[in-house]
Parts: sequence; C-alpha cells; structure tokens
Amino acid sequence: MTKPVVAIVGRPNVGKSTIFNRIVGERVSIVEDIPGVTRDRIYSSAEWLTHDFNIIDTGGIEIGDEPFLEQIRQQAEIAIDEADVIIFMTNGREGVTAADEQVAKILYKTKKPVVLAVNKIDNPDMREMIYDFYALGFGEPWPISGSHGLGLGDLLDECAKHFPKEDEEQYGDDVIKFSLIGRPNVGKSSLVNAFLGQERVIVSNIAGTTRDAIDTPYEYEGQEYVIIDTAGMRKKGKIYETTEKYSVLRALRAIERSDVVLVVLNAEEGIQEQDKKIAGYAHEAGKAVVIVVNKWDAIEKDEKTMNVFTQQIREHFLFLDYAPIIFVSANTKQRVHQILPIIQRVSENHAMRIQSSILNEVIEDSVARNPAPTDKGRRLRIYYATQVAIKPPTFVVFVNEPELMHFSYERFLENRIRETFDFEGTPIRLITRARA
Ligand code: GDP
Ligand code: GDP
Repeated sequence: MTKPVVAIVGRPNVGKSTIFNRIVGERVSIVEDIPGVTRDRIYSSAEWLTHDFNIIDTGGIEIGDEPFLEQIRQQAEIAIDEADVIIFMTNGREGVTAADEQVAKILYKTKKPVVLAVNKIDNPDMREMIYDFYALGFGEPWPISGSHGLGLGDLLDECAKHFPKEDEEQYGDDVIKFSLIGRPNVGKSSLVNAFLGQERVIVSNIAGTTRDAIDTPYEYEGQEYVIIDTAGMRKKGKIYETTEKYSVLRALRAIERSDVVLVVLNAEEGIQEQDKKIAGYAHEAGKAVVIVVNKWDAIEKDEKTMNVFTQQIREHFLFLDYAPIIFVSANTKQRVHQILPIIQRVSENHAMRIQSSILNEVIEDSVARNPAPTDKGRRLRIYYATQVAIKPPTFVVFVNEPELMHFSYERFLENRIRETFDFEGTPIRLITRARA
C-alpha cells in the first residue's frame, strides 16, 4: 500500500515544523532504537482520524549555501515532485509577504492540489486576518494555530479530499519489489543497468512508456521483479538532488515500498555515517536487506581484502548481522549475476511461515538448554509461541510475566530460531505477551 504524501512548504518561521510535529505527534518507534541512527524529523508517517498518510517538512531540507529565496524555491520544487497534496503555509500575523508571493509563483506551475494554510491564528478574533490571503490565488485560506492545535482537523480533511483514490502502484503478491539505496554516486543506477543488461532479463514494456515511470518491472527465470523508484536514481540535474536530506527522503520512500532493500556501498570510499543511517531505516522498517559493495574493480586488493571489508561492515552494521554481503562491480559485471538469486532467497525468507508445532519444539528445546531467567525468585515461564506475521517474520511468545523477559534472553531465542530456520537476509521480531 502506498500512502498519500503531504508536503508542507512556506518561508521560514511561519510554523512548518511546529505543525509537522503536531501532526506527527509523539510517535514512539515500535522497534528497537538503533544507536547512532539519528532520526531526521522531516519525513514521517502520520494518522489523523481516519486518514493515513506520509508527511514531509520541506523546511528541514537545507540546500547547501544557497541564498534564502533559492532555498525556499528548491523546497517548493521538492514538494511539487514528491507530494500528492501540498500545504502552502503562511503566517497570518505578518500578512502576505514578498517571500510568500515567490513561493506562490513556483506553486502556480504545478497541477497538484495546493491547500493554503494561514498559521498563528491563535484565537477566533484573529480570523479576519486570513482574507488578505485570497490574493495568493489558491482559493480558500484555512486558519490554523500550531501552538494551540486549532484548525488542523479541517485542514487535513481538505487535504484528504485530494488524496489519490486508486493505488496505481500495486503489484501482485508474487512480485518481488526491491530498491537500491545508498549515497549519491555509489553506483545505484549503474547497477540497475547492469541487472537489466543481463541475459534472460525481460524488461516489461510498460516501463518507460508512460510519463516518467517510477518503477521498472521485469522478469528473470520465471520470477517477476520490480525495481522500486528507478526514476529517483536517474539524475534530472536539479540542485537539491545531491543534498543529503533529499537523498535520505527519497531512500525512505523507496524502502517503504520494497520487500528487499539493497544497501549499496562504495568500495572506494568505505563505510560512511550516512550509509549506516540509511541501512538503519531499512532494518527498522522490517525489510529484507542485502549489502552490496560496488566498485570492487576500483580498489587494489589481495586475498585478505574481502575479509577485512566484511569485518568492517559487521562492526559498523551490528544491527544487520543477518544481511548477506556481496562484492560486485557494475562496470565489469563481476558477480552482478549473483545478486538476483540472493534477492530471491532473502525475499523467500522474509515471507517464510513456520508451523507452530515446529516453532514450539525449538522454543522448548532452547529453554531446556538455557533455562529462562529469574528475578527476585520469580521465573519466566514460556507457554507457547506462534508466528503472527510475515515480512518480516514476527513471533509472539506467550509467557507468565513479560517483565521477566530480558533482552539477552530474547536475543538467545532469536538466535536459536535463526539457527534452526534459514532467516538469512531478514530481520525477525519477537514480541512477548502475557498469556490472557
Ligand atoms: P518553520 O521555520 O516554518 O518550521 O517555523 P517553526 O515551526 O520553527 O515556528 C517558528 C516560530 O513560530 C516558533 O517560535 C513557533 O513557536 C512559532 N509558532 C508556530 N506556530 C505558531 C502559532 O500557531 N501561533 C503562534 N503565536 N506562534 C507559532
Ligand atoms: P548513483 O548516483 O548511485 O546512481 O551512481 P551512478 O551509477 O551514477 O555511478 C556514479 C559513478 O560511479 C559513475 O561515474 C559510474 O561510472 C561510476 N561507477 C558505477 N559503478 C562502478 C563500478 O562498479 N566501478 C567503477 N570503477 N565505477 C563505477
């Protein structure tokens, strides 16, 4: 399911991030926090009453040292490119400013729906301040107050009216959706070309025929695949494409729609902070992950180089200990043909279901080998376990008292499950519940 995307644009200080935070709320991440992965508060999923969508605060995307007007111009273009609905935010206390008019001028160019919000209308007496804003030419201005949380429901209802009705990017369950993510210039588009140039790869002729097709569907040995967001890898030459926040935003959206994520590293440059951040998102999102080290042709190596590199990856990506690593070259095609079989394998693991009877044998056997922890004379008792979801495989373990389940014991059980079943490439989740 692809959720609609709402982007907030507007000049600085009108209250974009205040509204973003209000809408997003204090969303507590349900998976473990990954050390070293700082969350960028510019993109998040959100719910408002019955609406489920993603939201972008374009104000958080800094475009290098560009002057102020150029920054907001670029941010508005990002909104036009990325969003289904754009919230154009202004400040009712200051009235229409020249910078607002600049933003408006860029937004006139899009056919996408623009909803005009006038912020800082903190009480009903101030409502008449909104009338000036009709002059911007986006119809009715919606009064809101970020500080007081007023008017947001009406504003989002208005946005929801413009959400796309049909989900046009839905693929069948048998289709493996994957994306390549990584910093600019690691070789993502070269790798895509290398895949598609392989023998027996049949690229569906849907791709490229309509507008700027986002995804590339193809078939290989009877298996259908879709490369998610191929368009995002093709450079259009826009300034903001090379900024870090934008590439992270693009990666997040691609990850969301994928089953399998290829985290692409550049052998020449080694592992960088941003690589970890992006990989962290893929893990958190519960996607199958393959680490692809590209440009293997470009470095000097001996028989130890691959091991040393593998070790470094394992140290830096502790949370991805399940991800297979492959060393390739898009240029020479070295080992490129091994990537699709790996994608297929980890995708099967990602969707694997384990029979409860077998699962419970493994759990019983594990408890027999390594007794469950005790605390102040109380011992954790595990009654039974069952798999409740796939993609990623998720298990619920029913116990007497969930507080007695220590992280280390959970880890032990997870490892036992991994040793027994082939979960290479996929995160698995254990949830401890008190038996009702
Ligand atoms: P951004 O630069 O557009 O993201 O703006 P911010 O969200 O950082 O807000 C700029 C300033 O406006 C902050 O000091 C906010 O506290 C303030 N602000 C935001 N929303 C409101 C509002 O509804 N009413 C009032 N009075 N102040 C607000
Ligand atoms: P993207 O930004 O991640 O899509 O990266 P590109 O595919 O555009 O590649 C960036 C640069 O790296 C280009 O100049 C490519 O020719 C080069 N490149 C890509 N793959 C390889 C590779 O396997 N070996 C070498 N030596 N260069 C590569």
